[in-house]
Amino acid sequence: MAELRYDGQTVVVTGSGGGLGRAYALFFASRGANLVVNDLGGSFKGEGGGSAAADKVVEEIRSAGGKAVANYDSVENGDAIIQTAIQNFGRIDVLINNAGILRDISFKNMKDQDWDLIMKVHVIGAYKCARAAWPHFRKQKYGRVINTASAAGLFGSFGQCNYSAAKLSQIGFTETLAKEGLKYNIICNVIAPIAASRMTATVMPPDVLDLLKPEWVVPLVAVLVHKSNSSETGSIFEVGGGHVAKLRWERAKGALLKADDSFTPGALLKKWDGVSDFSEPSYPTGPANFMELLEDAQKLPPNPP
Ligand code: NAD
Repeated sequence: MAELRYDGQTVVVTGSGGGLGRAYALFFASRGANLVVNDLGGSFKGEGGGSAAADKVVEEIRSAGGKAVANYDSVENGDAIIQTAIQNFGRIDVLINNAGILRDISFKNMKDQDWDLIMKVHVIGAYKCARAAWPHFRKQKYGRVINTASAAGLFGSFGQCNYSAAKLSQIGFTETLAKEGLKYNIICNVIAPIAASRMTATVMPPDVLDLLKPEWVVPLVAVLVHKSNSSETGSIFEVGGGHVAKLRWERAKGALLKADDSFTPGALLKKWDGVSDFSEPSYPTGPANFMELLEDAQKLPPNPP
């Protein structure tokens, strides 16, 4: 199979002054793309800023013969980031919403600032960048988006309720963008990566981090944003250390009760086994068919007390 290439395309990678973002940027530049290397250059807690992180990656790309420009805006200023792509390269084809910070603290001790900053960077940042890119994608009937979730969002993680909430939001966001974008060949997917970076450097031992190179998240992203992918959209992937797997929703068999005065908490408890019976699961891509269920529920006899 021929090597996947991105010649002539413009790829914006937010937060690509280090970690996973840097690995994406170096890869796409090495495969022919024009890169916008965005990075605010602050600490992993979202404090401070500077141009050095983005400049360094741009320099790496240019010295290897690639094309890249730096942008130092916060992702909250998505318009300016996308404008950098348009001004320098005349187009945008791929947006990788990757920038991120952590403000880990137990819920008991959480301050509004810890919550708000996480929402600003992860939720508002991903929204603002995608919103600014969207008219270009629609007009050219081509666009590829990667949003970044986390295992913390999917499963919860002690001390990370702000980050968990923000990261799970990326799933609903992506699933809706995928539905709205499909008609315009705008393909949107979401990844929950695991990789060695300054974010994970203090929570995992060095021998484990050696097995989690950011470069091993790149192949999945490369496949998803390539022009040959026109159908894999609205999907959630877990990726890291050589493992790549899709995740999906699972619905239990469920219970159906007559919807009348006999539908009491006691009647529901009698049918609880069905509510949580995953022995015959279904894998929904939309809400339950309530019109059909309503009719079936009405045909039932009153629920036993
Ligand atoms: P990282 O800290 O190395 O990289 C994040 C980059 O984003 C930094 O260079 C930082 O300067 C930049 N950034 C932060 N706030 C910004 C803002 N407002 N505007 C622009 N740039 C900003 O961390 P990483 O591990 O490479 O993380 C990349 C993404 O992957 C993040 O969204 C993170 O939440 C997510 N993630 C990482 C892991 C992991 O195991 N490393 C796990 C789950 C999710």
